Amino acid sequence: MKTIGLIGGMSWESSLEYYRIINEKVKKELGGLHSAQSLMYSVDFENIKNLQHEGKWDDLTTIMIDAAKRLEKGGADIIVICTNTMHKMAEDIQNNIDLPLIHIADTTAQAIKELKLNKIGLLGTKFTMEQDFYKGRLTEKHGLSVVIPNNEDRDIVHKIIYNELCQGNIKDSSKKEYIRIIENMVKNGAEGVILGCTEIPLLIKQGDVNVPVFDTTTIHAEQAVLQAIK
Ligand code: GLU
Repeated sequence: MKTIGLIGGMSWESSLEYYRIINEKVKKELGGLHSAQSLMYSVDFENIKNLQHEGKWDDLTTIMIDAAKRLEKGGADIIVICTNTMHKMAEDIQNNIDLPLIHIADTTAQAIKELKLNKIGLLGTKFTMEQDFYKGRLTEKHGLSVVIPNNEDRDIVHKIIYNELCQGNIKDSSKKEYIRIIENMVKNGAEGVILGCTEIPLLIKQGDVNVPVFDTTTIHAEQAVLQAIK
């Protein structure tokens, strides 16, 4: 079995999910007492959040490359960044290590294409919803058409992520807001929705809406296991 190297802490609420899902998947695939060989390097998210909102992406790139190198030195065979947003610097990270990085947007796009969907709604941080590193990858590399919420709703989605979900605060009122926003994207043609922030699956489940939801945390974590055991 290969060793999965996880860059975590963004936030730890979702890193915990990665750890659980990865081990459950190994158990499902291999049975017995099998569990995942893994390493996690977990950052202080307050610092990361501040740098993101100050637009200091070069500093963040340095921090992420350093984290990946620590995992590489520690014996990881595969690198997984446990957040959609920080895939903004995925290419820079990949260029600085010799290990394969499993890209969360690629694994998610694959799951969408398996269901033969073309037009997909995207929820995530404003960075993920608005910038090209994620949306652009879905459209250009994978040929998907992407729908995002309007400006006001993107603000709501973003604030709920940082002020509630990343702090382990799961509110019914926010769930209702997210469902309303998803339903609007469906009205705009979305055939499914990407839960494109690794904490959103703590709030929204498949049963909450009438279109397929793509839980990026589970899709990404399970794909890492399939790579590790193959
Ligand atoms: N976990 C979130 C994501 O998947 C947001 C936290 C972050 O900014 O990294 O994008």
